[in-house]
Amino acid sequence: MIDSHCHLAAQQFSGDLDAVLARAKAAGVERMICIGDTIEESEDGLRIAEKYEHIFCTVGLHPHCAKDFGANTLEVLRSLVASSKKVRAIGEIGLDYHYDLSPRDIQREVFRKQLILAQELSLPVVVHCRESVEDVWSIVDEIKPSSLVIHCCTEKWSDVERFVKRGYLLSFTGIATYPKSEEIRDTIKHCPLDQLMIETDAPFLAPVPHRGKRNEPAFVVEVAKCVAEVKGLSIDEIDRVTTENAERFFGLPDS
Ligand SMILES: [Zn+2]
Ligand SMILES: [Zn+2]
Repeated sequence: MIDSHCHLAAQQFSGDLDAVLARAKAAGVERMICIGDTIEESEDGLRIAEKYEHIFCTVGLHPHCAKDFGANTLEVLRSLVASSKKVRAIGEIGLDYHYDLSPRDIQREVFRKQLILAQELSLPVVVHCRESVEDVWSIVDEIKPSSLVIHCCTEKWSDVERFVKRGYLLSFTGIATYPKSEEIRDTIKHCPLDQLMIETDAPFLAPVPHRGKRNEPAFVVEVAKCVAEVKGLSIDEIDRVTTENAERFFGLPDS
């Protein structure tokens, strides 16, 4: 199993990362993708990926931090990508109109610039989309990245069907396990198996039955269980297809 999206460089893991990774291994999580959301976390995530063979990473500026985009940001991201084969995607990038921690016009500009960078570097993109699906679509439709995932997908099917039709992937978190998440489970039902990934987004959004605690990669098993139930398939089958999808999407070497 692969946790396709976790924030291992977050300070919540700074005290006990080895124990967290040991529990992930014991739970059957063989590999994970450590996501960057600031330059600093992208650098720290890359250090973690360099240290552990089974961890890969992404680099990018989260929409919350779009206001920190500077004259040399693209250069820094480019050099991080060039410095290691462990960097497998640009992300997470996108638009967040729920928190609005950066002005929306700046979010859109920074999203566009990083999409273009990913195209230039032939890397897939990990997209964060919150209450912004129309604008995310219009920018994606304009730049046409060749490979993209909507991470932590909480959208209704009618809003994300166009992404799936374009060949893009959807990735689901523990939010799908919450009782009120019927709309998300409906999207899972519609999402083709070969375009679906699972993730924790740890340390945030712990799935049932761990809700309210710090989330960690071992809990991605609960997301797999939820997807298996919705799809009417075994956990083994969901494990197999989501692992294959993540390996293909991030271009991971054979393990
Ligand atoms: Zn996100
Ligand atoms: Zn995230």
